[in-house]
This record gives sequence, C-alpha cells and structure tokens, in this order.
Amino acid sequence: MDTFEEINVKGFVEEEIDPSLDLFDEIKKLKKEKNAVILAHYYQEPDIQDIADYIGDSLGLSQQAAKTDADIIVFAGVHFMAETAKILSPSKKVLLPDLKAGCSLADSCPPHLFKKFKEKYPDHLVITYVNCTAELKAMSDIVCTSSNAVGIVESLPKDQKIIFGPDKNLGAYVAKKTGRDLVLWNGACMVHEIFSREKITRLKERHPGAKLLAHPECEDVILQLADYIGSTTGILKYATNNPANEFIVATEAGILHQMQKENPDKTFIPAPPNNNCACNDCPHMKRNTLEKLYLCLKNGYPEVTVPMDIIEKAVKPIERMLEISAKLGL
Ligand code: SF4
Repeated sequence: MDTFEEINVKGFVEEEIDPSLDLFDEIKKLKKEKNAVILAHYYQEPDIQDIADYIGDSLGLSQQAAKTDADIIVFAGVHFMAETAKILSPSKKVLLPDLKAGCSLADSCPPHLFKKFKEKYPDHLVITYVNCTAELKAMSDIVCTSSNAVGIVESLPKDQKIIFGPDKNLGAYVAKKTGRDLVLWNGACMVHEIFSREKITRLKERHPGAKLLAHPECEDVILQLADYIGSTTGILKYATNNPANEFIVATEAGILHQMQKENPDKTFIPAPPNNNCACNDCPHMKRNTLEKLYLCLKNGYPEVTVPMDIIEKAVKPIERMLEISAKLGL
C-alpha cells in the first residue's frame, strides 16, 4: 500500500490487481460492506457510469449523495465536484479515484487572484458557476449552475452590479440572454473551447436533419449555430424528447453513453474539435478508471477534505441558489 505522501504525489493508489477479479462484482461487494455510494458524472468512461448508483451533473449528484445515509461517497468526477459533495455532506467521507483529476476551468481562477479582482468591484455581487473550487465558492454571494444561471441573474434587481466567474463563455451567454452588463472573470473550459465552427457547419450540411446541442461553456460562435443550449442534463432530456433522429453534440463526449442508452435508435455525433483529434474527451475526467475506483474504495484513499471554515462559508451561496431556484421553479 502506498504511503499517504505517495498518493498525494501520484494522485491515486497504485496496487497490482488480480486479473481474474471481476471488478464490477468486487466494487458492488465493497460498496455494500463499506456503506458507500458511487456518483458518476456524465463525462466519465462508460464502465464507471454503468457501475454508479447515480449519474448526473455535479451539483445534482452531490445533492443526491447528501440525501443518502451512506458513510462514504465515491465521486467519479473531478476535484471541485468532490469538494461540493463534501460541502453538502461534511460528516461523510468523500473519495476521489484520482486526486489529480482537476479542471482547467476551476484552475483558471486561482482564489488569491479572484480576491484581488473582487476588491476592484466592492459594490458588485459575486455569482460563481458551480465549476470552481470550494475556496472560490466561499468568496461568492450566489453559486449557479449552467441550467439556472440565467434565472438567477434575472431574479436580481436590474441595477444590481454583478461579477460573474469563472467561465467567461457561460458569463457572456448569461449577459446576452439577460441584457445585463456582467463583469466577467476570464476563465474557460479547455474542452468546450475546442469546437470548430467551420467543421460543425460542414457537418450540419451533411446531416441537414440533425440538431446541434451545445453546452453554454462553448464559445458564442458555436452557440450561435445551436438548436438547443443547455446543461448536460438538459442536453440529454432534449435529445430524448425531441423527435429528430440525429444530433450533433457539442460537449464532452462521455455524455454520448447515456444519450445512446436512452435513445438506442437515434444517432449522436460528437461535434468536431478544432484539431485533428476525433474526440472531445476531458483529460481530467478521464484520469478516473474502473481500476482506480476499485482501489480507492478498497483502501479508503484518496480522500478529499475541505476545511470547516471554508465549508461553512461555501455552503451559504449554494443554499442561496437553491432558495432562489425553489422560489422561481428554475
Ligand atoms: S470538461 Fe471542462 S469544466 Fe468539465 S472538468 Fe473538464 S475541464 Fe473542467
């Protein structure tokens, strides 16, 4: 077994696994033994999605886990998601199969720089997208998701000055939809910034009946072409309920697994990126594997912790978002 320091350097437990083991069975057994719940984000590899108790987007998963009486939450996602689970379930142990599963968007907004940025706009309210660190949430007035960001901003008085971070593309989309002048932090997700407008346009010409579904973390040039803009959950629902047979999907390619499972007769085409790679995989999300998930559940490491003072501050903007969402039915 690795030492704690070794796990911190590598990010995961490295241990030989008996090749004759059926990891699906072993994970199910361990889950029961340890009273654990497994959460998988839509961007995880198909095997992980198939073994999970809940599949979804980050906040929804953390809320689901908080409702359970599990002692352990295994979050197959990235670091900020595991932190959110810890904020909503401080008494539960939260495990992340690979501690190095980070996020380019969360990393694009270091808390010490955001603090200085915030100081330049003392009369502004701070709204942060849930895809950010616990420390950033603790500096915020309201947290939002990609599905309620527009509604949250619209719920505020028109003369309320607002800083929006860390995603500049989601912020620009919200500003456009609400007509508000938001002060944006210049952060972005490496996966959603990679799509090629030219290649998508050519793809749409070859598939005239196909609907383009895009996540609002994409750049405006892509969103302008979209038939539907929404969160991963929204994209999945739209594809299921819409009568079209073909969909071009401009978000991380992991979502295609659930789309195809729920709609076996429909065709889903990943939107082409601006390079020669054929996929839009998030390298951070894909650091998690079934083997790492098994080992972290077996050994109880790596664990994600959040200092209690940060938890107490970070939970408030999340609660404020939930109150506004409940009031407005967002
Ligand atoms: S897809 Fe983008 S926002 Fe999501 S974890 Fe990867 S880098 Fe972060």
